[in-house]
Amino acid sequence: MLTIDGSRGEGGGQILRSSLTLSLLTGKPFRIVNIRAGRKKPGLLRQHLAALKAAAQIGQAGVSGASPGKQPELGEQALTFYPGEIAPGNRHFSIGSAGSATLVLQTVLLPLLTAPAPSRLVFEGGTHNPFAPPFDFLQKAFLPLLERMGARVSAKLERPGFYPAGGGKFSVVIQPISKLNRIDLPERGKLLGINAKALISQLPLHVARRELKVVAEKLSLQKEQLAEEEVLNPQGPGNVLIIEIASEQVREIFTGFGEKRVAAEQVAAQAAEAAQNYLESGAAVGQYLADQLLLPFALAGGGSFSTLPPTSHFETNLDVLRRFMDIDVSIEQTSETTQMVHIG
Ligand code: ATP
Repeated sequence: MLTIDGSRGEGGGQILRSSLTLSLLTGKPFRIVNIRAGRKKPGLLRQHLAALKAAAQIGQAGVSGASPGKQPELGEQALTFYPGEIAPGNRHFSIGSAGSATLVLQTVLLPLLTAPAPSRLVFEGGTHNPFAPPFDFLQKAFLPLLERMGARVSAKLERPGFYPAGGGKFSVVIQPISKLNRIDLPERGKLLGINAKALISQLPLHVARRELKVVAEKLSLQKEQLAEEEVLNPQGPGNVLIIEIASEQVREIFTGFGEKRVAAEQVAAQAAEAAQNYLESGAAVGQYLADQLLLPFALAGGGSFSTLPPTSHFETNLDVLRRFMDIDVSIEQTSETTQMVHIG
């Protein structure tokens, strides 16, 4: 059986989630040890346990924790996963805290795409969490690329959920496909437009306005490219700034997460800087998309994209991918700020 070392590279939750996804896709069981050993509080958090349970449910998998025959619990640092047949259908996944619900979707999405029937999923938890793909990123950047590969997946946000209150909700409909098509993204193409939206929940509107002012200055945006939006059915306080860059071949999303004791100007400046780096680099996909495209591109049997210098998330995800699938991945430095990733 494959043994995955959760302390390698980034040493975070993605090693577990990608292992679950790849195990379901390949039918290979695995044992993972040192789960999230690279993090301050190692082992399974609620979010990881939710991803594990979701994967076990849709994959009719057998799971045991560090002690054989015992189900993994919060804080568990080792487990074994035996995947079964993929079972599509209607499911409701509740993270039970503000844990990222989008990361749970990420875990089950590809296996359900290869299932024999459609799935309708409802997720409850955090939808806009720091260190996880915000819902807008999934809907506007990630899923459209999967659609270009032939997938039909629609996602609808019912209400946002922010840390610490959570309580967000979204639904996803997945139509299965027999095989994803490869795509190649050597360039992003002509810039079609940039806009920025500041989303505010139970916080003063001036927070959104100050963020938008900074982004407008840094990215030279006009009034009609800016929007402030107040959450109508708030579950708790929260704020995100979402910068959308649409180009002919790809749409990218850069997010700033409002935080207590961090000035709105600082949140906005960081997001604007990430967007600026991307724009100046000429790369087709940003650093987050790069690590998240590895698995779908491998499942398609190949593909390529230009991107920014590799992050440790990218390297770590590649490492996990290579453990499960025999696939060639090469990385070619094309300029000081860009590289081409060739898969298959
Ligand atoms: P931990 O490391 O505490 O276990 P985690 O379970 O969230 O946390 P990570 O290993 O840090 O796991 O993985 C986070 C994932 O979220 C990565 O795939 C990364 O690309 C993605 N991500 C993080 N921030 C963003 C963002 N702003 N936009 C899009 N994707 C993001």
